[in-house]
Order: sequence, then C-alpha cells, then structure tokens
Amino acid sequence: MSVHYRSCNLCEASCGLQITVEDNHIVDIRGDADDPMSQGYVCPKGVALADLHADPDRLRHPLRKRDDGGWEPITWDAAFDLVAERLLDVRRRHGDDAIGMYLGNPITHGWAPVTLIPLLLKALGTRQRYSAASVDQQPEHLLSYLLFGSPLLLPVPDIDRTDHLLVIGANPVVSNGSIMTAPDIRRRLRSLRDRGGRLVVIDPRQTETAALADEHVFITPGTDVLLLAAMVHTLFAEDLVSMGPAVDYVDGVDAIEEMVRQFTPEAVAERTGIDAHTIRRLTREFAVASTAAAYARLGVCQSEFGTTAFWLVHVLNILTGRLDSEGGWMFALPAFDLPVIGAKTTDLIGYDRWRSRVRGIPEVAAEFPSITLADEILSPGEGQLRAMILYAGNPVLTVPDGRRMDAALDDLEFCVAVDFYLNESTRHADVILPPTAVLEREEFDVVFGAVSVHNHVRYGEQVLQPDDDTRSDADILLELLWRIEAERAGTRRARLAHRLRRAFFPRRFIDAALRIGPWGVRKGRRALSLAKIREHQHGLDLGPLEPALPKRLMTDGKRIRLDHPVVTDDWERVRALLDDVRSDAKDSHRLKLIGRRHLRSNNSWMHNFDRLIGGSNRCTLLMHPIDAEQFGHANGGHVTVASSVGSIEAQVEISEAVMPGVVCLPHGWGHSRDGSRWRTAESTPGMSVNDITDTARFDPLSGNAAVTGLPVSVKAR
Ligand code: SF4
Repeated sequence: MSVHYRSCNLCEASCGLQITVEDNHIVDIRGDADDPMSQGYVCPKGVALADLHADPDRLRHPLRKRDDGGWEPITWDAAFDLVAERLLDVRRRHGDDAIGMYLGNPITHGWAPVTLIPLLLKALGTRQRYSAASVDQQPEHLLSYLLFGSPLLLPVPDIDRTDHLLVIGANPVVSNGSIMTAPDIRRRLRSLRDRGGRLVVIDPRQTETAALADEHVFITPGTDVLLLAAMVHTLFAEDLVSMGPAVDYVDGVDAIEEMVRQFTPEAVAERTGIDAHTIRRLTREFAVASTAAAYARLGVCQSEFGTTAFWLVHVLNILTGRLDSEGGWMFALPAFDLPVIGAKTTDLIGYDRWRSRVRGIPEVAAEFPSITLADEILSPGEGQLRAMILYAGNPVLTVPDGRRMDAALDDLEFCVAVDFYLNESTRHADVILPPTAVLEREEFDVVFGAVSVHNHVRYGEQVLQPDDDTRSDADILLELLWRIEAERAGTRRARLAHRLRRAFFPRRFIDAALRIGPWGVRKGRRALSLAKIREHQHGLDLGPLEPALPKRLMTDGKRIRLDHPVVTDDWERVRALLDDVRSDAKDSHRLKLIGRRHLRSNNSWMHNFDRLIGGSNRCTLLMHPIDAEQFGHANGGHVTVASSVGSIEAQVEISEAVMPGVVCLPHGWGHSRDGSRWRTAESTPGMSVNDITDTARFDPLSGNAAVTGLPVSVKAR
C-alpha cells in the first residue's frame, strides 16, 4: 500500500487529499490533515474521485462514429490524423472562423488545457471561442479587465480576517467558494462569527449559507442592481464614504454620486422586496464595520444587469475602503502568476475588439457568449460555424435553450470532443478523445492560487498508473497542435516545435513560471522552484493576503477608473428599471425561476457516481406555501414548468426556504437523451432546467446568460 498527497481538482476549493492506493486501486480517500488550506476537510465529491477512476462508463481510448451512428474504437494516431484532417478541410473550405471551441469549466483544473489550448486556438486562427464562463461569471472578468487591467486579476474577500461578510447571490457553503478558493468554508464562516464578526446573506432562497448567517434577507431575483445602487446612494447620503489608501489611485467617484442620486432606498424597496429601513441599516452596518467585504456570485452575474450589478459590488467595497485592505476585498499573490502570465502570453486582455457574427455581441477576453453559440452554428452565411471542438464541456445541459443547442451540434459538419464521457453533447461528436483522469497524471494548479483567500501552493503527484495506451490532456493537445500548425508552418517546423514543447511542458514550463513569479528569484534565498515545492507534499503556506495596490494594477498609470464608460454608458438601462415596477404587475401570473446547487454535484458527469446521486430526488421544484396554495399545487405533485422557450416536468417540493413568487430548480441534470452512455446518471435523469432558459435574456455588456429570475408558469400535469 502507498499513501499519496495531492489536491482535489473537482472544484475551486482544491482541498488537500490523502489517497491510499493498493495494486493501482484506490482503497481510501480522506482529507489531508496537514494541508495548510483545507486542514483535513473533504466533501463527498472528493471521496467520489475513486468512483471516477473505477467508472466502467469512463472512456479510455478514442472512439469514431460510424456511418450508422454507432461507435467504433480507433487508434490514437489515426484519431489525431482524422481530427486534424477534418478540421483543416473545414478551414480550407470555409475560413478560420468556421471552427469553434467550447470549453467546460474542468479545463481550469488542469495545467495542460489552461496553457496549451491558447496555442491550439492561435494555430486554428479562430475567433469562435466559447466557454462555461459566459453562463455564470463573465461580468467579473469584464470588470476586472476594466477596473484592474486583467480579466484574471480577481479580488476575493479576506474571509479569514474580516469582521463583516456580506454575501449576495452566492452560496459558498455548498460551492466551497466560487471565484474564491476557500476550502471548508463552513469552518471559516463559523470562525468569523466566533470572533464576533457578522455574516449577512441576501438571496431569494434561504440557502445553506444563509442558514449559518446572522441575518438573511430575501431579494426579488434580478434586482440586485437596484439594491446595490441604493446602498451606494446611502453611502453618499449618510456621509459614509471613506476610501482609505485607495483614494490615491481611484478616479471617477464624483460621477458615481450623481449616477445613484435617484436610487433612494424608498425608490427600490418595492422592486427588490427589501424595505428602505433595512437597506439603510445593512449599508450602515457594512460601512462602519472595522473590516468588511461584499462578495457576490451567480445570483448577481446571471441577470440582465450582471455587469452593472457586479460593478456596484466593487463600488461598495471601494467606497468603504475595503479594496486591498486586511479583512476586505483583496488580491491573492499566486506562485504561478496567472493574471500576469495570462496577460502576456494570450490575447485575453481586451474587450469589444470584435463582435459575434449573428447578434453583434462584444467579445470579452477573446470569447463570445455561449448564448449565441447555437446562432453561429445554425445561421447560414459567411463565417458560419461548421466544426466544433468540445473540450470537457456539456453545453446541451449547461447553456440556455439546450434543445436548440442539441439541434445545433447535430447540424455541424464535424465535431471532436475531448472528454471521457459519451454525454448529451459529446454524442454529437464524430471523434471522442478521452484524456486520462486526474489521479493518473501529475498536476499543478495554475488557476486557483490567483483567487485563494490565503496564499499557498501545492504540487500534485501522479497517484495511479493509467491504462496502457492512454493519453493525457497534454498529449492530446500537443498532438493536435503540431498537426494543425503543419499546414501553415510546414511539417518540419511544426514537428520541431512539437519536440521542443514536449521537452518543455509541463515541468520546465511550470518551473520557469515559478522562478519568474512573485515568489521566485526576487525572493532571494527563499525563492520557490518546482523542486522546492515538491519537497512539501502537503503544500506550502505562503501566508495571508497582503496589500498589493496600486503596484499590482495592470491598468494605464496603475489607476482605477471607477466611472468606466462601458458601465456608465449602460446606466440609462438601470435607471429605466426604477420606472418598471408596473411590469411585475403585468407578470403577476408568473413565477420567477432561480437555480440551486447541491454539495454532491458540480459538473454533470458527477451524476454518474452512485455515492453522489443516492438518496431522495434532488431535482425538485421548490415553491413557497403561499404560491402552492394560490396555484393549487400539493407537495410531491407533478407539474409542468413553462417559459417562453419550452417546458419541462418537475415535482413540487413546498418549502419556506424560497421567497413567495420564486421557484427553484437545480441545473446540470436531464440525462434522458438518446445516445449518451452513462448508466448511473440515466437511472436518475432529472430534468434539464436549460431546456426552458432563454438565450434572449442576457447581460448586453458581458454577454453573460441571464438565467436567474426567468419568468415561468407552473401548472399541474
Ligand atoms: S470541496 Fe469537495 S470537490 Fe471541492 S476540492 Fe474539496 S473535496 Fe474536492
């Protein structure tokens, strides 16, 4: 038996794991008690990593679709040649932008996809890039670019030292932090309260985080922008603005006072569902706390005002002196400095440099929003998408209007999936290239150190030997890359570049990045290298977050323009909301749909593990007793939930945890489409909420899907 230590890569928390292996089989997974971040914590998903490695449905070798729709094995070399040949054929006939790529969020957990996919995209020459980010977080990346100079320079709440945490539209107790690496967040939030701090949650549902809070306030879905505008209004009205050191490098504050002048707490109370007195009190408590941070996530980003609402989160933090201050809204200093390396080695830095072909939506960090991916495939004309690379993504379940996405993928000339499951999306592929699973390769987190609530670094050793004749993500990407490059650079040059990359990636690349990074040679004798990090099998604690501004800003002159015109030019739309109270009256027969996540679920493929999907039905429609009575629904009753796009069937669960007028469904389910191959998930299929979400609802600045607050009707079946 051997014992191995590495971090879990199933979610952003990156908990340390202790894994016991015998004869290349996992016999035990538990939390690594010596991990400086997670201190022994592990959630059920981490333990279920063993199921992934033993899953008979997991693909280990490439598959090619036959003419009759069935699948047959194919050798790796034949698969790489076929994929390159078909992609290049599409490019020759239809141009660079006829090939697109969709990235699922698991790619952020692997050094190879993060560093090599940009090279593949460059070799393809396409601007047709999409990812799961535009379903839930693109406003944050856009604002980090506009305010701080890099879409990857993302502040996080200094949760371990704050005295007051205001959580808006987020449920970190279940997510264990999102755009915030904070394993065992329940312990961290309890510590906050034990040291006399205050936790306030604003959410249309009494979430698991709200259950821990000092105060939970219901808010009407999609109206966060109004609440936040009223809070900023209150800061000015009650002379609570106190920016601290940020006053020396933040511009444009006066313009904001004028922008929010009309947004009195009284003006927004009816629309938000929060009375004016409460809005003023919440603002005062936040402003006068000795340390405080406002943290927001999906509920804010996934609205039609996602960017302006999240901008107001920044404004609230900045005007109260929380930016870059201990216990406030701070930046991590990662050993692998992704915000800087990403900016210097990719084309991520920018906004609205080009627009999508069909709907004219601006790119954000070189990506188009996923809500328009189906348009680009289905709308004829120059630049129409004819081929797709699906990389660790399942857009049929995760992108709004999944049925249309399903039809769009079916319409492609060619599709290749890099994925280890035959799922609702990859069943449309012509070739599937399954990479080895996480424990079968060494790993180094190049992403989440940048959003960690405490600086740390960890190397993950390979734990299991993969099956014979398998390939890692790095193998797959490097093999595709040189074949694509060969067409324009010539075979000899492409092969030479390939050999050099094989020698350089991953170890030398990561080592070089560490040495030039903030914890590298500039630290003198304490400089980190990959070899030094590997000496610490439980990871290295690099200390609490430290003030880093304005030096770390990547904007011109290292200044923050708070009244950035991208946001201020959109303000008229927000102002119009104030006059829009009557529209709710028009919609009074409708309910507003929100989402929820479960601790045992994150990505759709986790539904194929018995230990994660056991127990009672989790795909229920939460409905408040008042609504249940008004519409005549009983607990456990079967209903049809309909939107402007379509309808799905669900079972009602009456609950006071949602506010009246709101219903709630989880996402990532709906494993009942023909042609996928995951037996456990299909035995508990649930329904896909994205069969009724609407691509017409989105935040026009970032293109992010506006899936929260979707108007629906609920009728008995
Ligand atoms: S919270 Fe769970 S899934 Fe996330 S990293 Fe930790 S063990 Fe893995």
